[in-house]
Amino acid sequence: MKDDSEVRTDEDLGRILQRLDGRGYKAYKEIQGGWAFPDFSLWVDHVQGDPFAAPSRVRVRVPASITQLPGEVRSPDARAIGTACLLARTFSHEARRVSGSRGSGKSGEVRMEAPGQEVLPHTAVQVDGDGGVEARFTVGLPARGRKVLGRQAAALLCETVPAIVERSLLAQAHPHRELVRHAEVNQDAEVLRSLLEERELVAFVADGAVLPRRSGVDDRPLEGEAVVPFESPEPLRVEMALPNRGSITGMGIPRGVTLIVGGGYHGKSTLLRAVEQGVYNHRPGDGREFVVADAGAVKVRAEDGRSVAGVDISPFIGKLPAGTDTQAFSTENASGSTSQAAGIVEALEASARVLLVDEDTAATNLMIRDRRMQALVPREHEPITPFIDRVQALYRDRGVSSLLVLGGSGDYLEVADTVIAMTAYRPQKVTARAREVAKEFPTGRIAEAPEPLSPAPRRIPLAHSVDPSRGKRSVKIQARDGNRILFGRNELDLSSLEQLVSRAQLRSLGQALLLARQRFMDGECSIPEILDRVETAVEEEGLDALSSRQPGDLAMFRRFELAAALNRLRALKVRSEA
Ligand code: ADP
Ligand code: MG
Repeated sequence: MKDDSEVRTDEDLGRILQRLDGRGYKAYKEIQGGWAFPDFSLWVDHVQGDPFAAPSRVRVRVPASITQLPGEVRSPDARAIGTACLLARTFSHEARRVSGSRGSGKSGEVRMEAPGQEVLPHTAVQVDGDGGVEARFTVGLPARGRKVLGRQAAALLCETVPAIVERSLLAQAHPHRELVRHAEVNQDAEVLRSLLEERELVAFVADGAVLPRRSGVDDRPLEGEAVVPFESPEPLRVEMALPNRGSITGMGIPRGVTLIVGGGYHGKSTLLRAVEQGVYNHRPGDGREFVVADAGAVKVRAEDGRSVAGVDISPFIGKLPAGTDTQAFSTENASGSTSQAAGIVEALEASARVLLVDEDTAATNLMIRDRRMQALVPREHEPITPFIDRVQALYRDRGVSSLLVLGGSGDYLEVADTVIAMTAYRPQKVTARAREVAKEFPTGRIAEAPEPLSPAPRRIPLAHSVDPSRGKRSVKIQARDGNRILFGRNELDLSSLEQLVSRAQLRSLGQALLLARQRFMDGECSIPEILDRVETAVEEEGLDALSSRQPGDLAMFRRFELAAALNRLRALKVRSEA
């Protein structure tokens, strides 16, 4: 072993690897640590145990003098994040192109997780304000059987990796206007979202935006002649001034209660979905670059079968047949309506400012009880206070807006501040007409919310119930397929969180849950206080607050998804305080 203070170069690394040729795989441990390459520093943070294990973790830092990234693409932060996404996508692409199998297991593979359509701060590539770049990726150290392939390893680390770096992380690797576009579009989106507040809007959908996606499993924009670009209805049209793009127009969705109505297959859910995803920025070419929503917009839906831990759902669901207490409602197996009621209360607890609901995924009996049902089933036999009787007060008393896709229930016309009708993917403002209709066809419905919404009790999670251990391991957390997280002995199902957009986010949530548990669950902190503290830690320390291992596969997440993850932990126990 060389002394730590001595600088080891890429040439040393090459020599050592040649020397290790033919030795047992464990011999690779010798290359752990830092290496000075001509143009960058490289760290081997973790060496895999065998050729079939998770690949080795490697990091490079390229100084500003080498990246030559111009100021306009690295500050302010929003620009650096847009740039980082472009670099990460390019790195990932180049890595796939030039690296390949060189022996057994994952030998020879260089991999970086490419960002999807959303532009999120992530750990794969980080661009500093001064233009330095750090990239984190994995390398399958080459082996034949379980023996070191030293020459191949030397070529991989000392030639292939520098080639990938050169073709992805330096300014010269990209057409200048591409770099600038990624930086500017992301800054514009950020500014656009910040303008919503002063304009008293919950969302903005730009004219010309392409909302539909290729398929349910392909998030890229739909292409071809069938696409109808978004066109704002005149009465809802607003103009926004962006720092780079200049002035753009689009539909502003005002605060309050907004209904999206229209025939089946006319684009209602597609519009809502774009708003849902508008809490994040999108890459240039996505079609939704200038579709933004209040960062506090939360999709709520029915999710029968989920667990619920001590949630006060009494504003929506009163005494249950078995006499079950709904002020601290717990179940292993929620129904459609109780799951959605819990979802709403949990979103409010986490400080949601906008609730998004789609009829396609809502529990009808939680949304509405019409005149005839009121007549047939007496109030005292119906525990549910439907959302229709709470939605106005939510806005009036708490400032929480709602955006609802509800093609089937005209009763909502009475409580809506704004009604948008979709016809063949084209929105129209029909608020006035909706008021006339409501007058012309009175439903005779009786409002059923006798008391105002009372503040929910504080829920304090009990740390022992959030247990990350499994067998002999004190911590076992793993992101799994289908938006599941293995957390200790629990399998957390997050497949219903429609605003969870990447596996990197999923991993972050698993780690954030651990951070919350280890640092903030002291038996006194309530759930919102814990969310605040995790948020502050990530703001101050970056995503590296989530792990001491400097992983390259984490992405930024919201407090709402973290709350949702905690709330879906089947073992969760809470103490309630009024
Ligand atoms: P709804 O919720 O009103 O029933 P959806 O939003 O599910 O309708 O849309 C129905 C279909 O139309 C989907 O396949 C969607 O991809 C497609 N679609 C939606 N908006 C557009 C558009 N602007 N241009 C072309 N196709 C669209
Ligand atoms: Mg729909």
